[in-house]
Amino acid sequence: MSLALGIDLGTTNSCAAVMEHDAPMVVPLQGGKLTLPSVVAFAEDNQRLVGEAAKRQFVNNVARTIFAAKRLIGRSFDDPQTRKAMESMSYRCVKGPNGDVWVDLGDRQLAIQEISAHILSEIKRAARHHFAQEINEAVITVPAYFNDRQRHATKQAAQIAGLEVLRIINEPTAAALAYGMHQGAERCVAVYDLGGGTFDVSILRVGGGAVEVLASDGDAFLGGHDFDNRIYKWLSDQIKKQHNVNVQEDLRASQRLREASENAKIRLSDDDTAKIGLPFLATLPNGESMHFETNLSRGVYESLISDLVDRTIVTFKSTIAAAGLTPDKVDEVLLVGGMTCTPIVRQSVQTVIASPPATGVHPDLAVAVGAAVQASLLDAESNAAVLLDVTPHNLGIMTVADLAETIIPKNTKVPASVRRRFVTIKDNQSQVKVVVFQGDERHIDKNEILGEFRLEGIRAARAGDVQIDVTFAISVDGMVEVTATDVETGHNQVIRISGAVGITEQDLERMIEDHQSNLPDDGLAPSPT
Ligand code: AMP
Repeated sequence: MSLALGIDLGTTNSCAAVMEHDAPMVVPLQGGKLTLPSVVAFAEDNQRLVGEAAKRQFVNNVARTIFAAKRLIGRSFDDPQTRKAMESMSYRCVKGPNGDVWVDLGDRQLAIQEISAHILSEIKRAARHHFAQEINEAVITVPAYFNDRQRHATKQAAQIAGLEVLRIINEPTAAALAYGMHQGAERCVAVYDLGGGTFDVSILRVGGGAVEVLASDGDAFLGGHDFDNRIYKWLSDQIKKQHNVNVQEDLRASQRLREASENAKIRLSDDDTAKIGLPFLATLPNGESMHFETNLSRGVYESLISDLVDRTIVTFKSTIAAAGLTPDKVDEVLLVGGMTCTPIVRQSVQTVIASPPATGVHPDLAVAVGAAVQASLLDAESNAAVLLDVTPHNLGIMTVADLAETIIPKNTKVPASVRRRFVTIKDNQSQVKVVVFQGDERHIDKNEILGEFRLEGIRAARAGDVQIDVTFAISVDGMVEVTATDVETGHNQVIRISGAVGITEQDLERMIEDHQSNLPDDGLAPSPT
């Protein structure tokens, strides 16, 4: 039986599922756990660690432990979002040969695609181990707001890991598929996704074999980590008051305190109080060991995080409005991401939408399950769901005075193809430069430039006499192709945006080779079940 993986390649954790005999099966990853920390580390001897093992050794190897690669994938080094992400990273980033952000390990530099490939390889390895067969195909999810470069870079990461990507789909779309919402009557569904590092809201119209993203928004820098930080700060203030010790200056103690903060947060989803005990946490000024113990009640925790929850609710409401809906028109809310197990989060969501959130699929697993559903739908062609996603940003070209002229407005359903006619602006203009951008700003400089090309050999004529058709085509994966055609001669130039950015084919080949030759030996073993 041929299987294809559905992979949720997350910022904090990743997860994978397959459809086996029409039922979703989440792939047991390291230690039988259903999620894998999206962490890759390179030890002194260059041994590569992925997942739990990488996360655990962080304190001893901060500069070579790579967290949250998803924040950087497909981004240029100079992108303001890269700068922002780098502020919270303990590893060094550099400008790669193509202007993209790369990771600097000291002895060598790696593309972000290579880092993500290690996570994908680990998932592939675990699936091979569990199903006792090689699985080479996958549907991979990305946030709805991911642009063309980020989607393409994600595909390259999969290629490096030896996976053929059947389709890239949006995470909220996958969540809707996990709930089987593509079948049945048409409904409006809100997906509230609060993960470890990011918050995303999407409003979908689903049913009749289609999933359409009406609007999406979020905060790429708000997630469980910020909730942990509130507890961490509360604990370190207490320690300072009680023992006059600043734990934040002690890397090891600080890391233990962070882990204890996250554990307390998770416990408070089920219990009213979390007991925090940290023996031998630090050394007191008099040289004695310091033991620390306290209790955190759910009430206090909720007061520590209320502004964070409120921020998500503001975005939640504004995204519903951006979809042209009022909350009473939302038929269902799907909760995605481990943080949505938090009772106050659920209650707050429910104050916006009267009906209780759907809970049939575990929020940590929903996206991977949905990706597996999509993989099986692609397999059973006759039954394929028509997935309609939307473009997350305006797409267009630069025109006179460096203005951004939108050709495909944001929130247009894909696949899409739009043609617009332009004319030359100078007498005897022999070529046209087409600069393609993505973004929502009026001035070209404030948007992201996806690529540029020239249409040459234009006949001599007065300004305005030569007509040029510019066609933008976006595929189901959200990848962009732009064609400029001289209307009179039919002469044209095409640019495949994805091919013009990211790592070159040559580099990609080398990375695939490097990656495959460095994989640990792993024979086949029968599934334990
Ligand atoms: P995700 O990125 O979807 O895997 O979500 C991971 C985040 O969810 C991390 O910040 C976890 O600490 C958090 N998380 C996982 N389980 C729970 C839980 N039961 N209650 C609250 N937060 C949780």
